[in-house]
Amino acid sequence: MTVGSQKLYTSDFRLRTSDFKNANLLIQMVLEKIYEKALQLAPLDVEEGEALYTTAPIGELMFVANKLRQLHNPGNIAGWMIDRNVNITNICFSQCFFCNFCRKKGSPDAYTTSMDEYKSKIDELYSLGGDQLLLQGGMNPELGLSFYIDLFINLKRSYPSLKLHALGPPEIVHLSKKERLSYSAVLSHLIEAGLDSLPGAGAEILSDRVRKIVSPAKATTEEWLGVMREAHILNLPTSATMMYGHVETIRERIEHLIRIRDLQTEKQENNFGFITFIPWPFQDEGTVLREKHGIRSSYNGPDYIRMIAISRILLNNIRNIQASILTVGKDVGMLSLHAGANDLGSIMIEENVVSAAGANNRFNANEMQSIIKDAGFVPGRRNQKYELLSPNPSYGGI
Ligand code: SF4
Repeated sequence: MTVGSQKLYTSDFRLRTSDFKNANLLIQMVLEKIYEKALQLAPLDVEEGEALYTTAPIGELMFVANKLRQLHNPGNIAGWMIDRNVNITNICFSQCFFCNFCRKKGSPDAYTTSMDEYKSKIDELYSLGGDQLLLQGGMNPELGLSFYIDLFINLKRSYPSLKLHALGPPEIVHLSKKERLSYSAVLSHLIEAGLDSLPGAGAEILSDRVRKIVSPAKATTEEWLGVMREAHILNLPTSATMMYGHVETIRERIEHLIRIRDLQTEKQENNFGFITFIPWPFQDEGTVLREKHGIRSSYNGPDYIRMIAISRILLNNIRNIQASILTVGKDVGMLSLHAGANDLGSIMIEENVVSAAGANNRFNANEMQSIIKDAGFVPGRRNQKYELLSPNPSYGGI
């Protein structure tokens, strides 16, 4: 056959069945080398990660990820927790294109939560056995550092045992610019006021190409990583996240994981660093990305399982991988525990952000424990540092 002057093949070069067999054998040999490397906890590079994501059979990924889960967290405990999400405000200048929660100043349903509202929500949290608030919300340009300092001090004064898992790198970047302070100074003030740990919110995909499309007004990749770097130096426990399934490529997912892993290698050995990694899929219902740009979530269950397994395999220095049962639901959550995840997260009393874009899974404490048992594990209720509330030193915490 010829195209122009190019001879593409002659009858001698035609592919035979044996060639396919040889190609498959070669792919299998390459994959096995990568599995071996991963099982020795060696860091995989982008090409190796991409090869696993795109060519490895899901069963093999689950097998390897499970082995690694056992190396990081031996045994059969799967973690869960009780906390309550309270949104400080829904006014946000960022207006990310995947967010249905934010409002502009002056919108009829814009709000900033009052102290009385916090108190009734915290009283309910305590009555349900929880003691942690996940405090998140919009970046309201009118709220400066002193607002958050006063809020944290007042909450801790009224509830000394309350834990505050609050804000996230984009808010710290915003406050740092607003107050002309370093990330470290902003974090130090907040820690002194009562901040116990920093969620990995706003990571989405750590690629500026992607961020310019989905959240152009939010922190850049380097800013997000820069805040986390300072948090780790201050020994503030943090988590890392990924919101995927919109405009990113598989390679960008892998690069995201590697950026997180590389930052974790910088932390001091006995500091907390990233305690956990939590991937969740883009929820598209009613979002600007879907309505105006026709971008639908590419989420499906098998791909989430692949994502969990790849996360466990690539993040060789993060002990806990959490499946986002609130976004993927019970069945995929259960399977995730067999694919490298060791935790199903919180029952999350009152979640308003992902549910505003279509994630409507809700579980109470009994249901969460039944799900874990039905998946073949022992439920272990834990705190934000992944320390079991009934002691078991081998699980999760550093
Ligand atoms: S995702 Fe967060 S930062 Fe983005 S618009 Fe919504 S509230 Fe604001």
